[in-house]
Formats: sequence, structure tokens, C-alpha cells
Amino acid sequence: MSKFLPIESYSEKKEYKLLPFNFERLSDDRYFITNLVGEYLVVNSSDINNLINKSIDVTTPLFSDLRAKHFVRYAGEQSALQLLGLKVRTKHSRLADFTSLHIFVVTLRCDHSCPYCQVSRRSEDTSAFDMTREMADKSLDIVFRSPSPTIKIEFQGGEPLLNFDLIKYIVVEANKRNLISKRHLGFVIATTLSMLSDEHLEFCKDNNISLSSSLDGPESLHNSNRPRPGKDSHQRFVSGLNAARNILGHDQVSALMTTTDKSLPKVRDIIDEYLRLGFGEIFLRHLSPYGFAIKTKKYLAYNTDKWLDFYKEGLDYIIEINKAGVNFVEQATATIVAKMLTSNDPMYVDMMSCRGGYCCYCL
Ligand code: SF4
Repeated sequence: MSKFLPIESYSEKKEYKLLPFNFERLSDDRYFITNLVGEYLVVNSSDINNLINKSIDVTTPLFSDLRAKHFVRYAGEQSALQLLGLKVRTKHSRLADFTSLHIFVVTLRCDHSCPYCQVSRRSEDTSAFDMTREMADKSLDIVFRSPSPTIKIEFQGGEPLLNFDLIKYIVVEANKRNLISKRHLGFVIATTLSMLSDEHLEFCKDNNISLSSSLDGPESLHNSNRPRPGKDSHQRFVSGLNAARNILGHDQVSALMTTTDKSLPKVRDIIDEYLRLGFGEIFLRHLSPYGFAIKTKKYLAYNTDKWLDFYKEGLDYIIEINKAGVNFVEQATATIVAKMLTSNDPMYVDMMSCRGGYCCYCL
């Protein structure tokens, strides 16, 4: 005769403790529970009551799921705490290195006049809105005070190429400081590409600078969203894109889009334009209530429901494209899914919680 009792005799008597989690009611009988490391389960109301009252039968598959996803642990079980701690540390590992992304707004001047402009751009002749060398030097002092082994300096505007001499100055100075500091130093220029010249591109090539640009969709939509003298924003974007890809390499130029009310019926056309121009991804972005978007009330032009309809139609279309054998990514979904389903952080600043000092905008 075995000297051991059946397994149920042990497990039924086991007590469990709750680990930290949040929950939200989805409908009368469905609750969504989630925790610090992005694990989640959908349970019914009786399950959630039993969970909280610590009366779930520990032999059930539900208990196994809850334990595997770090919602509960057996009393006295230290390894569960250690594993949860390890996952939390991994998820927030960026904090140990402090800030790596530093944004230099080298000018507010711009040749465009987008009604949703987040920075309240200024006309091209108002140089009072340029960063000076003195400001740049002080900003570099702050950049190199960060202990991060990686430093990315992003030049934004306005149109940063309108103050290209200062960009050159900052890149040269940063490289000089980095001879001693020895970080992984990188640069990005956020530009419409409308003023891109061979001189700009040669400097970018010599200094390993990549370009981040804007494409709102097909020519008529893009030009309507992004007005400039000559009404040729899209044409300039395409010729700048081709020139930049030739000199810097295909993957050294990325693009972002902004959704206006005029974009809403055109999500498929927008995605097709990204495919036509050889991009492997798109970031479907809604308007944000900053700068001119507040003054012009552009951000009120559509509500959350309309935005979600646009987003869902776009996502369905992208899934169709992938099923047809073309690898094409929607970046918002990719970021959210990585945050939900893995312990890694995709490091996308706009989707980080602002808890004082965690993101570059706070510093
Ligand atoms: S959104 Fe960009 S391109 Fe448009 S006006 Fe503002 S700074 Fe210029």
C-alpha cells in the first residue's frame, strides 16, 4: 500500500495568497483581470468572487491559470514572488539606465501650415524661434549627464532643416563629447523632406543620421492635410524619400501619419500609399490635442467611435494584406500587443505611463 495520500488530499488543503492585480467589469458576467507584468484573464463573476474570497478549488484548471499568470501563489511559496519580481524588473529595465531619448527642437519655423500642428509652428522668416548655440551647449550638458549607455538625439521642429547649421554644430559637438563619454550615440532628424538637399544627405550619411518623416496618405489627402506654398508637399516628400533612400539606404527613412476627418473614409487608400512607396509598416495615429490642433479645434473633428471605426477597418485590411503573403505591420497594434503579451517594453514613449520622471517629456 502506498504511504502517500492521493494528490487531491494535499492540494485541497493548500491555502493561497493573492498577488497584486487590477480588474474591470466587461459586462454583467465577464471580468477582465490583469497585473503588473501584463498577464491577463477573462473570468466570470463567480470566479472573481471566489478568487477574492480565496475559495477557488486549487485542483481546477482556473487555479492553474491564475497561478501561472501570477495572480495567486501558494502560501509560503517564495519562488512565485521571485519570478514575478524578475518579470517586473525586466519590464521596467529601462528605468535603471535613465533617459536615452533627447529631443532638440532646433526651430519652430516651418514651410508647412498643417492645421493639426502640435508645436504651433512659426513662419519661415521668424528666426527668433530658433535654438541658439548657447542653448544647444547647455542642452548637451544635460544629455551627457544621463547615465544611459545609449543616447539618441532627435531633431524636431518646426522644420529642423531650416536650422541645419545648428544641427551640424550639435552633431559635431556631441560626437566630440562622446570621444570621452563613449555611449552608443545616434541621431534622427524629423523632417517633412520638403527641403532636403544633397548637402543635408551627405552630412547625414557621414554621421549616421536617419530620417523620420510624415506621410498622411495619397497625394490629394496628404496635400490637403499638409498645406505649403506650391501645394506640392506630397511631390516633395516622394522625391526626398527617393533621394534619401538612394544615399542613406532604404531603411533609414521612416514615416508617420496623422488622421484627420478627411482621412476617415480613406484608410485603405492610406495603407495602399504606404505599400506603393515601399514601406513595410504604418502607424495609424489619431490627432492629439496640442498646439494648433487646439486653436483650430481640429482634434474635435471626430470622436472616439469614429476613430475606432477607422482603426478597425485599417487593421482588418492589414490582416488581409498579411494573409495574402505581404508582411506589413501596424505599429500601434504591434506595440500594444508586445506590452500586453511579453515582459519586454517596446520603449515607445507615447505609450508609457507618466509617473513623474519616467519619460523624456518629464525631464
Ligand atoms: S505639423 Fe510639422 S510640418 Fe506641419 S506645420 Fe507643424 S511642424 Fe510643420
